[in-house]
Amino acid sequence: MNPVYPSSFWRQECTLCGACCAAPDISALQKPLGVPCKHLNAGCACTIYPSRPQVCRNYTPDWVCGEVAPLPTLEARIQRYLGIYGLEQTDG
Ligand code: SF4
Ligand code: SF4
Repeated sequence: MNPVYPSSFWRQECTLCGACCAAPDISALQKPLGVPCKHLNAGCACTIYPSRPQVCRNYTPDWVCGEVAPLPTLEARIQRYLGIYGLEQTDG
């Protein structure tokens, strides 16, 4: 069986695209799916970075970053991120 590779280059550094702070639900922050974290500023930087929760500290950039980070808007990155993980965004 042939392995499946991502279509983008593997990216190991964070470019502050904001997707992982906006797309997934994060229970430690009571953050719903598809909604930017309240601590994410307009420049997609974390405003509580020194005291961010452990779940955020544990997140490491991987190939998904290469798929989402080049997209032009945060909303586009959110939708791509949700699509990669097969997550459904619901209204309300
Ligand atoms: S998705 Fe990747 S590049 Fe974007 S903010 Fe998160 S770690 Fe950084
Ligand atoms: S607390 Fe900071 S690092 Fe964690 S999701 Fe929110 S903005 Fe991102």
